[in-house]
Amino acid sequence: MNFSSKLLENAVTEFGKLPGIGQKTALRLVLHLLNQEHSQVSKFTESITVLKNNIKFCKNCHHISDAELCEICTSHKRDQSIICVVEDSRDIMAIENTHQYNGLYHVLNGLISPMDGVGPADLTIAQLVNRAENTDVKEIIFALSATMEGDTTIFYLNKKLNTENIKISTLARGIAFGGEIEYADELTLGRSITTRVPYQNSLTK
Ligand SMILES: [Zn+2]
Repeated sequence: MNFSSKLLENAVTEFGKLPGIGQKTALRLVLHLLNQEHSQVSKFTESITVLKNNIKFCKNCHHISDAELCEICTSHKRDQSIICVVEDSRDIMAIENTHQYNGLYHVLNGLISPMDGVGPADLTIAQLVNRAENTDVKEIIFALSATMEGDTTIFYLNKKLNTENIKISTLARGIAFGGEIEYADELTLGRSITTRVPYQNSLTK
């Protein structure tokens, strides 16, 4: 693309780095911002700067939070004896939207993927094992995508967790193989959580 201005080119290049934004869309967004009032553009850039500078990750479950501990972890209405293990914060938002789950969460920050060079140490697995051993957890639900990476991660976690006194379950496979949690519709996801199955049973099917 030929730009009449280096400043314009720089802005388009930065917008183009966002996921799902090609050069044409980047240009359209930048030109849109150029037509906005100064105050509106300041609001926009400020919200991103403030977000990046002040956002925290819950010390307990690693969910995106404004405080050291997130609202879910500190709520007295939540069942502290169940932990639902998810890949990232987007999955928590999807599951919360179903209104079918009232326990706590644990965000892994990814899935084990040797192809992409992601190993167990890159995820919050040690912290999950710590929670399982040092809090009064009775059930852990693996709500991970039904992909190779999801299955590999569940297999590893199941071995790593001392499961003698903890029930381990996975989502019922209303989620198609290859399906990602965040794209499942609320009804399917809600049902998968309420009809979850013991992990060992899910292996034999
Ligand atoms: Zn939390």
